[in-house]
Amino acid sequence: MMEKVVIIGSGPAAWTAAIYAARANLQPLVYEGAINSVNHVNGTLPLGQLNLTTEVENFPTWPFADNDALKMFAQTALPPERYANLAHLYEGKRAHQGKRAATGPEMMEFVRQQALNFGTRVVTDDIAKADLGRHPFVLTASEGQTIETLAVIIATGARANYLGLESESRYKNQGVSACAVCDGALPRFRNQPIVVVGGGDTAVEEATYLTKYASNVYLVHRRDVLRASKIMQERALNHPKITMKWNRVLDEVVGSDEHGVTGAVLRSTTDDGTEQLEAGGVFLAIGHTPNTDFLDGQLQLDAKGYLALTVPFRTNTSIPGVFAAGDVADSYYRQAVTAAGTGCMAAIDVERWLAEKGHH
Ligand code: NAP
Repeated sequence: MMEKVVIIGSGPAAWTAAIYAARANLQPLVYEGAINSVNHVNGTLPLGQLNLTTEVENFPTWPFADNDALKMFAQTALPPERYANLAHLYEGKRAHQGKRAATGPEMMEFVRQQALNFGTRVVTDDIAKADLGRHPFVLTASEGQTIETLAVIIATGARANYLGLESESRYKNQGVSACAVCDGALPRFRNQPIVVVGGGDTAVEEATYLTKYASNVYLVHRRDVLRASKIMQERALNHPKITMKWNRVLDEVVGSDEHGVTGAVLRSTTDDGTEQLEAGGVFLAIGHTPNTDFLDGQLQLDAKGYLALTVPFRTNTSIPGVFAAGDVADSYYRQAVTAAGTGCMAAIDVERWLAEKGHH
């Protein structure tokens, strides 16, 4: 069967594109990604980066609400098997400080369901290969299925970066992580000093989150000023359990096969000094890389390696009929709400492009 539009991805851009495409009767097919260990390690599991975060305070219309209100909403909005993914957020917990925003996982389950409600079809697999040199385009899924489609929306997002140290990869899953929300509650990190590397919003968010479990958190940043937004900075700088390690980079992760991570060596960026810290974990929060490998260089990239959008204020890529939305094409804003906005734009761009080409 020839598809009108295939959407590749599973974050706010992909699901918003699906909602719009479904409501435009384009019967979208979403490849939301595979659930496997490679995607787990890379941070590219279905539901995207928001599924790896905590509360999302800056998405318009997601209100402060207590656990019970969000629980009731989740229970009525989602089928039981999807509600089960969120149950841990509600069961046995009280809303802290009497108010909270919806979490990233909640938001993603809700928008995925919203897309399904309008007839979106979903396959839980990766697109491993795309032949964009012919039309209709041919996509090949990891499990071998091939799909012909008139249009594609690429919304595969971005994944967390690592420094590339040999010691860092040796202790991945043994105390080195790039996702505090996924791994922070593991017993190995409890009541231990933890090192977080980075100076952006993610680093501050992860450091603050980890204070729930760690004895104290060292926030290691290569400069003497944080990149993070002011409100996030204040949280870190005023937190009694966070110690700033300014002007330092991670030089080596220290550990053993038996215990995993036991410490970290930091190097000064202003002189030759080094210091070794005792630490039960090292979390990297040093930015992201767009998920474009499966495209094999067929689409033009911008100077930072993100998909290039070729028409101002549109989602067109360098190949007609292929559109991009969300973080995979945005090294600048990278917000949930901007991703959702470009997802909407991509679906409208597809609808108009198909109509122009006479495909109704
Ligand atoms: P980011 O803003 O690009 O920050 C990356 C940080 O890592 C920077 O502080 C950078 O240092 C540092 N860094 C990069 N490469 C490094 C290296 N090789 N060695 C040492 N340090 C290195 O990335 P992000 O924090 O992941 O944020 C991405 C986007 O998501 C941003 O737009 C952010 O606002 C958004 N975000 C928002 C929230 C929120 O609003 N709640 C939460 C998370 C993320 P320099 O500063 O020296 O360049």
